[in-house]
Amino acid sequence: MSKILSKNLRPHTRLQRSGSAPAYRGGKAVNPPVVRASTVLFESVEEMAAMRARRNDERIFTYGARGNPTAFALEEAIADIEGGFRTRLFPTGLAAIAMVFTTYLKPGDHVLIADCVYQPVRHLVGTFMQQFGIEATFFCADGSDIAQKARPNTRMLYVECPGSLVYELCDMRSLAALAETHGWLLVADNTWGSGLQYQPLALGADVSIVAATKYLSGHSDVMMGAVTTTEKAWQPLAIMTDAFGMTVSPDDAYLVLRGTRTLAARLKLHEQHAIKVAHWLLARTEVARVFCPALPGHPGHDIWQRDCRGTNGLISFEFTHADLPAATGFVNRLALFGIGASWGGYESLATLSDLGAARSVTDWSRAGPIVRLHIGLEDPDDLIEDLAQAFAGSD
Ligand SMILES: *Cc1c(COP(=O)(O)O)cnc(C)c1O
Repeated sequence: MSKILSKNLRPHTRLQRSGSAPAYRGGKAVNPPVVRASTVLFESVEEMAAMRARRNDERIFTYGARGNPTAFALEEAIADIEGGFRTRLFPTGLAAIAMVFTTYLKPGDHVLIADCVYQPVRHLVGTFMQQFGIEATFFCADGSDIAQKARPNTRMLYVECPGSLVYELCDMRSLAALAETHGWLLVADNTWGSGLQYQPLALGADVSIVAATKYLSGHSDVMMGAVTTTEKAWQPLAIMTDAFGMTVSPDDAYLVLRGTRTLAARLKLHEQHAIKVAHWLLARTEVARVFCPALPGHPGHDIWQRDCRGTNGLISFEFTHADLPAATGFVNRLALFGIGASWGGYESLATLSDLGAARSVTDWSRAGPIVRLHIGLEDPDDLIEDLAQAFAGSD
């Protein structure tokens, strides 16, 4: 169908139309373009209707609330890294988790949640789930008490491996077998593994969530969550995500896609540096325990060796004697480590962890204060010198 546009358009009209589809010759850019859009245009009423009819099953660009071509490119990349069927993107990792609960649970259902999950999940349980009549029970991160805590109305097993803060391991394959027997959906928060160091879907999980805010973006300047599923689990998530109008901006998608290109290279350095710092910490008298799944003494290290392709920049340690004020002083004295939430950027961070608030099944009341470090891309010898001066100093 050819559209006839007069050559004699008046200035106000030309302002709105000129340059809207610049034609150019030449090659193509390496990266997918940032396509900003709310409205999407079609050639005809019939084409618009045909595209809208297909959009629930296929990834078709019909309106900005359902995603944009830059976000689609990132979805492709994450689905590929995670080894899943397809991926949907969310404004934050927490929003991604909330959408998974909203999609697959309904009033009257029960969900089993691992004790080691990202702490704000507990807030979701206490707010949204409680209000909507969804019951949740926390189970020991190694899965040992699942049989005893399962109920006839259990619908989902929600895990995180390795766990937040102290990196508990679970045997995903045996949890998948258990979930299959009972008809439970197995959901894994795979933020630690970024799809590269760990792949829950390959081990039998149905749904994998990654906070792209962390290593996928890698530069501490963008928030995003991604949910990747198997083909079987896909449709309910796609429907609910569209129903809620969830998407991300093309600018944010561009940044995260750019970050994924260097993910492997960055992770290799984060890993090397973290292991060096972890071994240095192990030899300090101030340190009772170092938590890092790559250390042979770490509980579940054998599972890590079997199921993971490496570790990342996260390590935590427990003070031998220090009380909370002394541990606080230690963190405050660090000069190269930023004090702040999140991790996965290029820079080192230190935070005091409150395991008492982050766990409800395991008892951490007798443990010393625990500091979580994110080891960045700085020279690890500089980081070690900084840690040494923070141990030596006093307020
Ligand atoms: C940070 C994090 C999230 C949440 O991601 P945000 O983008 O900060 O909302 C979820 N799970 C884990 C394990 C995380 O570390």
